[in-house]
Amino acid sequence: MRLGLAALALLAGCAAPPRTAAPPASPTVPRAAAAPAPSSTATPAATTSIASTEAAPGGLPRAWATESSGVAARFPDPAVRYATPAFAPQHPGYTSNAELRSFLQSLARDAEDAPNAPGVKLLQAGSSQTGVPIPALLFTHEPRGADLAARPTVLLIAQQHGDEPAGAEALLAVSQALAQGSLRPLLERINVIVLPRANPDGAAADHRLTASAIDLNRDHLLLRTPEAQAQAQLVREYQPVVVVDSHEYTVIGRYLDKFDAVQRFDALFQYATVANLPGFVTKASEEWFRQPLLQSLQAAGLSAEWYYTTSTDVADKKVSMGGVQADTGRNVNGLRNAISLLVETRGVGLGRVHLARRVHTHVVAVTSVLTSAAARAPDLAKLRRFIDADVAAQACKGQLVVEAAATPSEYALLMLDPVSGADKTVNVAWDSALQLAQQRQRARPCGYWLGADQLDAVLRLRGLGVRVMRLDAAGTLRAEAYTETARETGARADVRGTIADAQGTTLRVKVALQPLLIEVSAGSYYVPLDQPLANLVVAALEPDTQNSYLANRIVGSVDVQARVLGRPDVRMTALP
Ligand SMILES: [Zn+2]
Repeated sequence: MRLGLAALALLAGCAAPPRTAAPPASPTVPRAAAAPAPSSTATPAATTSIASTEAAPGGLPRAWATESSGVAARFPDPAVRYATPAFAPQHPGYTSNAELRSFLQSLARDAEDAPNAPGVKLLQAGSSQTGVPIPALLFTHEPRGADLAARPTVLLIAQQHGDEPAGAEALLAVSQALAQGSLRPLLERINVIVLPRANPDGAAADHRLTASAIDLNRDHLLLRTPEAQAQAQLVREYQPVVVVDSHEYTVIGRYLDKFDAVQRFDALFQYATVANLPGFVTKASEEWFRQPLLQSLQAAGLSAEWYYTTSTDVADKKVSMGGVQADTGRNVNGLRNAISLLVETRGVGLGRVHLARRVHTHVVAVTSVLTSAAARAPDLAKLRRFIDADVAAQACKGQLVVEAAATPSEYALLMLDPVSGADKTVNVAWDSALQLAQQRQRARPCGYWLGADQLDAVLRLRGLGVRVMRLDAAGTLRAEAYTETARETGARADVRGTIADAQGTTLRVKVALQPLLIEVSAGSYYVPLDQPLANLVVAALEPDTQNSYLANRIVGSVDVQARVLGRPDVRMTALP
């Protein structure tokens, strides 16, 4: 209970955020014994026109590739000009992969020549499926090779979906401002890692998915793509306390078909919304980040709403906030106890129309998040240590949620008349992710046992940063065994519809639990829940969800996994 009181006192300070840079006095957070230290040339709005003026029967144009002039006039270019390669005169498209790489290289090189400037280090986060490098930049005042832990780290990610270019352009502009310009002073208080283009193959093809047709932003628990593995490695290595994921959303398309309206908001926003998310992650996301973000956007003349989407099925008119499954970067990073923020701009399907405004929106949003993180740096570090310890301390106690769902409600959604551009309110059925309905709960075990042949699952858990133990000797564990009581196959799905997934179907199983003493062999594995990533382990190893390692055939059978109810009295070694 001492931990709970300490954190309450800490976040009490955030209910009324001080306007000055001075952080609120924070109590010492006790250390939990069990928690290990984890190692414009944009088209002027006035000339934007309807691509097809042919009206379908019923009067509404169905084949618009872009906006009416009435809609476009609602989104004038910002006064600011950005200097990324895409905005060079006569540049035909977006910043290419080669241009992006040399842009980052030159920022790192320039910093080397300026001895008193913050360090700017080019990182090779990984390579895409076609072998394109995935570069990132690390901005830090820490001397070369020093421990970065003196300051909290913020990770900025863009373009997980290749056809959403504005975030990448924005992160190049932000990188420039961090290295040379207005954002540099923030590096006195925080480290920043910028991963501007997470899916270079998709970007080159102007296509949402990765080269193997897997949706990168549904792959953060399963880690089947090298692109998701690259992000996981960055998070494992640098332990960011704040992660921003920059996307763009569909403006016309199915919204015109369903609601005779087009999308209105410059920015849509959502933090992590997933079962077992620590409450203080949500509270800090809302009070320390979302509130200042809304103020920053408003001050810049940009509109904002919660993030929402709708299925690709035209007959389904329900609108849903972003999903509640442990598959997206937003939710998986939340289960890593990071403050995990999604920002989406009004872009998919518009080509380069309004690109400067879309980029500006991302820059304003990211600048707000970096400024908030810098102002709260000591609090963020303390809060993270507390949450990590608190999650670890819950092992063997209480309940965990296996499956949660969004809460059906209604919402008066502001959209635009597709012709005049006037505001148009559409009353929609709205699935709110802000309140989760708990559909299936279980007692929280001390950990999970995995058979000696489950190396694939073990390597993925290690890739996520999870601590895994290997049993040095045979022994007996007090456990609950799973029995499969029903099985069907189906596609993974989310609020948009079927998830693009080249791997085919998943298994949907139902299970019963049976208390047992199980005999376990040397060489089998124990995944303890007394660690900060316990809730990520739950998402991977409780078998009866669509994202579990069993459902996705990484774990072969419920017979080779079990819930461990007492702390094992068996000699074990942590895997490197
Ligand atoms: Zn996206």
